[in-house]
Amino acid sequence: MNKKYFIHTFGCQQNVADSERIAAYCESAGMKKASSLEKANYVVITTCMIRESAENRVYGMVNNLIPLKEKKLKAGEEFTIVITGCMTGMAHRDKTGKMMKEVHRRMPAADLFLPLEEIGFELAPLRADSKTAFIPISNGCNNFCTYCVVPYTRGREISRPFENIVKEAKDAYKKGFKKVLLLGQNVNSYGSDIFLDGKKQQDLKPVYVKHLGKNRIPTLFPHLLEAVAKIGFEEVNFMSSNPWDFSEELIDTIAKHKNITRTFHLAVQSGDDEVLKRMNRWYTAKEYVDLVGRIKQKMPEAHITTDIIVGFCGETDKEFQNTVKLCKKIHFDRAFISIYSNRRGTHAYKHIPDDIPHPIKDKRWKLLDKLVNSQFYAENVKK
Ligand code: SF4
Repeated sequence: MNKKYFIHTFGCQQNVADSERIAAYCESAGMKKASSLEKANYVVITTCMIRESAENRVYGMVNNLIPLKEKKLKAGEEFTIVITGCMTGMAHRDKTGKMMKEVHRRMPAADLFLPLEEIGFELAPLRADSKTAFIPISNGCNNFCTYCVVPYTRGREISRPFENIVKEAKDAYKKGFKKVLLLGQNVNSYGSDIFLDGKKQQDLKPVYVKHLGKNRIPTLFPHLLEAVAKIGFEEVNFMSSNPWDFSEELIDTIAKHKNITRTFHLAVQSGDDEVLKRMNRWYTAKEYVDLVGRIKQKMPEAHITTDIIVGFCGETDKEFQNTVKLCKKIHFDRAFISIYSNRRGTHAYKHIPDDIPHPIKDKRWKLLDKLVNSQFYAENVKK
């Protein structure tokens, strides 16, 4: 009898894209998709660690599967629980072995901890969305923002070969996909690892991102975006992009192609320079405002959305008010605001005390959410 697989995905669109490849991997191993979790005997859970609540949901789900697993095994059926994604990535990268021990202890019913690297990009993904093709262009991140687990869960940034991505995009277009979403933790630094390794990618000249008057990194992202835009999709989207890697060439490339999105998600995280420094974000509030100004100058129709963290370690009232001021200046179309929570393994967890009391974090969250998102809620949330 064919094994039946069921995949449950926690977290971001990058995880959704990973799960699409895991589905292809399962099918290549002769398994069939189960119509529900109860009918499966190979359950894959793609995990997220961005917040403690996401991590706890994974533990909760695996532990809730224990009665089903026991029932299946008693009936002589196979039942395997596979944990993959960020949690497994972090556990495999933790050289002390402590995290692996902990995930085993907290999920005794899990059978396998499979690092995503084992899936690779050779198999064509089994796409879950029928309109938008999710295409990962890179994995991991080199930025080490002090609050973020990604460099530990996904490792250092690795870019996929240019031709490989363009081929996947062309295949998706031929199959009828109207939209494409290029994915990476830091899409606009795409290709820098290739050049820093001294390798050439075709004859493409790297675009140097200027930061504080210096060449920061060589990137191929404007070339890649243009190559994908020319395929003919109705809409080309990308996420996430970092403010400090948003080059002038990238702005010009987007402005040149009408089918590239005009909605830019640019995480600001804070409007205060000292907080940004503590977060290891490489721009000032003024540089961020100037960047948005340059984007809007070339594309007045641009929409800007953002991520903001309130109550980061040591955030004073004055520092928070600088975030309020920045929001009043920019008029974001939407902000995804989160209350800071300490993530194990990060620089902030080890070195910067999480000292803002929860009621203050909560008050700041409510104030900012009302200021930035009330218009969005009024237009989008049904009463
Ligand atoms: S750039 Fe994004 S993914 Fe990378 S460390 Fe910073 S917040 Fe995390």
